Amino acid sequence: MDRYSIIENKNHREIVLLKGFPCVWGKCSFCDYILDNSTNEEEINEINFNVLSNITGKYKVLEVINSGSCFEIPRKTLEKIKEIIDEKGIEKLFLESHWCYRNRLNEMREFFNIPIIFKIGVETFDYDFRNDFLNKNAKFKAPEELKEYFDSPCIMVGIKGQSKESIDKDMEIIQNIFTHSTVNIFTPNTSKLERDGELIKWFIDKYSFLDKNPNIEILYNNTDFGVGD
Ligand code: SF4
Repeated sequence: MDRYSIIENKNHREIVLLKGFPCVWGKCSFCDYILDNSTNEEEINEINFNVLSNITGKYKVLEVINSGSCFEIPRKTLEKIKEIIDEKGIEKLFLESHWCYRNRLNEMREFFNIPIIFKIGVETFDYDFRNDFLNKNAKFKAPEELKEYFDSPCIMVGIKGQSKESIDKDMEIIQNIFTHSTVNIFTPNTSKLERDGELIKWFIDKYSFLDKNPNIEILYNNTDFGVGD
């Protein structure tokens, strides 16, 4: 499993995939990343300290992800990240969190005391598909409601059952309402969900122009940021 990488494409930054405690929700129908979660705090910190030792501060921007939310990263690891931020002169942080922690985001802002871009896996703005089919438990109604808390939604494209219309709407929203976003093309995993190759081909034909948009990052493979397996 690669846990450190440098993103040289858009929004240059270093990225680390850390280990964390179990995801607070852990029930999204497409997710098997939670297999990386652990309850062994000592083991988590040991792995994380090792990964964090790679950070050089090259671009003064760091993204920290784990298979869950930043609130599931142990305190010792958070303190280590803060130490590295100070040491390497990191000026901006990307963190990720589930909707259920929306009222706690300021805790991270106060702790790290540098600008944070908060990402959230919403997968789609289609309420029913998101909450019924994907079982995401992110029950906001409108993108504006999400934007009150989060800066950067992550969208999923290419799951069997997803419609072109809902993807069109998602693309419209991320281009017009948010300043950052990520589009993940669904990669089959150990979950029951299936990849829709035809839908993905349609998406690439229609939306590959977004590759040129500096604020939208499209991951054609889930390892395109250089972390994961
Ligand atoms: S919130 Fe994220 S890590 Fe947790 S189950 Fe859903 S997709 Fe997986």
